[in-house]
Amino acid sequence: MMNQSTAFIPPAPQSIRFVLARTSHPGNIGAAARAIRTMGFWRLVLVAPQRYPDPQVEAMAAGADDVLTHLVQAASLTEAITSCTRVYGLSARRRGVNLPELDPRAAVAEIAPLVAAGREVALLFGNERSGLDNDELSVCQAMVRIPSVEDFSSLNLAQAVQVMAWELRMAMLGEVPPSPPDHDASPATADEMERFFEHLFATLHAIDFHKGRAAVTIEQRLRRLFHRAMPDARELRILHGVLADAERMAQLAGAKRGE
Ligand code: SAH
Repeated sequence: MMNQSTAFIPPAPQSIRFVLARTSHPGNIGAAARAIRTMGFWRLVLVAPQRYPDPQVEAMAAGADDVLTHLVQAASLTEAITSCTRVYGLSARRRGVNLPELDPRAAVAEIAPLVAAGREVALLFGNERSGLDNDELSVCQAMVRIPSVEDFSSLNLAQAVQVMAWELRMAMLGEVPPSPPDHDASPATADEMERFFEHLFATLHAIDFHKGRAAVTIEQRLRRLFHRAMPDARELRILHGVLADAERMAQLAGAKRGE
């Protein structure tokens, strides 16, 4: 029998993490561990679980002990997705967010070449009752909806995890993955993108871009635009430079007006 704790870990599963946000039922954590283990994955990350640790985790994991051994409880959502090039938010409902919405197969068609090119990807699953909240949605670059029926669309959390893990498994069992994206340098990670957005939004305030109007819609659109562009770290450095100069000019202008 194979010794589970020393099982060979192929490179692709290593690059894909399943992030469960604010899980209320510990049995679902165990069932999710089992779901990913059956499909060859092992990276399970928890953010603010409501009950953990809990005997129901082990009970529902049904022997997926190596997944539980590697399980990470992240201190924050940002920490949970650190080093990820792309974060996919799983949601049963169509959300009023301006993000591309994919079914699992289309999402995997995007994920496979990213992973083949050595990038890391997170799949983010929401709370059992309320789904993903606004903070969680704001770190996603795309939404994935399992096309369930309209009038009963919500799957059990671990079953939604299973569907994604299955689709990824099918892609891994398939032939050669699609060719890597046409990029010289690695796309920036999610945390680098967040730092850039902080700088961008602060600068827009400094130059009084919003002129008293609410910033949130513009900020969402800009997030979408820059995520679509998938800038690399060097491109982000250029953009930070532009923003720093804009901030400097705003300060000079303020000083001239005697502010
Ligand atoms: N009422 C919640 C349901 C939460 S179910 C909602 O509308 O989102 C718990 C989690 O399972 C969800 O946050 C989502 O990550 C995942 N999930 C359940 N059904 C799904 C579906 N049809 N498509 C994609 N994700 C789904």
